[in-house]
Amino acid sequence: TKKPKSDIEIANEATMKPIVEIAENAKIPLDAVEQYGRFKAKIDTSKISGTANAKVVLVTAISPTPAGEGKSTVTVGLADALQQLNQRVMVALREPSLGPVMGVKGGATGGGYAQVLPMEQINLHFNGDFHAITTANNALSALIDNHIHQGNELHIDSRRIIWKRVVDLNDRALRHVTVGLGGPLQGVPREDGFDITVASEIMAIFCLATSIKDLKQRLARIVIGYTYDREPVTVGDLKVEGALTLILKEAMNPNLVQTIEGTPALIHGGPFANIAHGCNSIIATQTARKLADIVVTEAGFGSDLGAEKFLNIKAREAGFEPSAVVIVATIRALKMHGGVAKANLVEENVAALQDGIANLAQHVANIRNFGLEPVIALNRFITDTEKELQAVLQWAEANEVRIARTNVWEEGGKGGIELAQHVLEVINQPSTYKPLYELQETVEQKLVKIVQQVYGGAGVQLTEVAKRQLAAIEKNGWDNLPICMAKTQYSLSDQPGLLGRPTDFVVTIREIIPKLGAGFLVCLTGDIMTMPGLPKQPAALRMDVAEDGSAVGLF
Ligand code: ADP
Repeated sequence: TKKPKSDIEIANEATMKPIVEIAENAKIPLDAVEQYGRFKAKIDTSKISGTANAKVVLVTAISPTPAGEGKSTVTVGLADALQQLNQRVMVALREPSLGPVMGVKGGATGGGYAQVLPMEQINLHFNGDFHAITTANNALSALIDNHIHQGNELHIDSRRIIWKRVVDLNDRALRHVTVGLGGPLQGVPREDGFDITVASEIMAIFCLATSIKDLKQRLARIVIGYTYDREPVTVGDLKVEGALTLILKEAMNPNLVQTIEGTPALIHGGPFANIAHGCNSIIATQTARKLADIVVTEAGFGSDLGAEKFLNIKAREAGFEPSAVVIVATIRALKMHGGVAKANLVEENVAALQDGIANLAQHVANIRNFGLEPVIALNRFITDTEKELQAVLQWAEANEVRIARTNVWEEGGKGGIELAQHVLEVINQPSTYKPLYELQETVEQKLVKIVQQVYGGAGVQLTEVAKRQLAAIEKNGWDNLPICMAKTQYSLSDQPGLLGRPTDFVVTIREIIPKLGAGFLVCLTGDIMTMPGLPKQPAALRMDVAEDGSAVGLF
């Protein structure tokens, strides 16, 4: 058999329509279309009228393995399939971060014949949004340091500043740094550190803000650190929320692009789901809901991370009820959950597959705990055998879960028709979604619900540090915020090595950090890092520009 084409080869061969044509088909008024070249545009949301009432379909997955699950691929393919069935549909995706693009992942624009285009530009510096977010974040750092240098009127204790600088790369050497060295003219020395841009609170705010006014109010609420008397200091105290809003203004407009089959896609904002809330911007989702009848969107990693936060944080903030949830699973990943090593994944192994299905079962249970009936998308790889496919289909039948073989990677929308038909049946029922917890429950009650009902664990345990932080959060009256768990994506537990469906584990909450601008409490578990490192063989080693100027190595 001949070697399948790479994602970038397929992307480069596809013929794109001019973006104005995509906009016209999507009924976007042309005076709302700010073109960034021929194939990308920003949409001026102030010129989009109508009510945000499209049905929302969320695509999530089983716990990811290095085998790759294909969530973005299925999101794009499902939308293309719905378009083939004459539905008015729009895709709403996150923007890729250069950290994982250069590190382990390559592109993040789908794969095979289910991709968004132009994949090269979307993967690199897409319309400058991450630049704007990075700049707003670091402008705040510079303004804090300048405030201290100029006399420190607010009495900021420089040992208690929690605001960090960011860069959109995996760069472990920047996790802990000292700034302000070099004498009195160079500022006041203090310990600082860098996070990756997608972990910045400004990224979370960018994705949760519902308007420019809301953006500014959220920015003003950011707690940057504490005074010598341990009182919180906010961006509002520094009086710089206006400047930060200005830096972000243009970026707040969502980006319009197209799939290979010409389905309109809004790609906007990109927080990670393991260290942040993992969903694209509310502005983009709501704009898409005004323009289409169905919006297909995705949340990062497995349903224990992105989907939990989509359902408990984003949907609640935006005020919509999701109508359907698709869980992407692959035979390869299920075999890994059943104990097969990555090198042996191409061999048929029904026994291991059956063990690994336990992981899928927990994700199905999760979605049902939110009152929603999931549809499994069995994302087909060419190495899957018929016996293996049948084993998963039979399990689904026995457990009365909807399932569709999905072949969008090879066939585009045509390979997602069966999935689309299931989704259409589900969204035509009234939504029965309910969040897992109420905001007024205690922080510990909320944590226990997430651990028991979403992770399948026994309970939680707080370190002494976390207990002290929680006491301060309660004293300040911040305990009625939703929880944003920071947890490994590889396991349902807080231990990356525990694959499949672990039970009886207790999750340790290492720290609880209030993010008042985003409006959630980040609970750090395990040794999850807010600045990743590069692997031994980073994807960057395979990247290049060919003589004709085209990109090489973005997969
Ligand atoms: P996720 O969103 O879950 O991270 P992606 O959709 O980005 O996953 O896919 C990751 C990689 O796997 C992409 O390079 C894509 O081309 C590849 N991939 C996805 N589905 C398939 C499939 N069915 N067969 C082969 N490769 C696939």
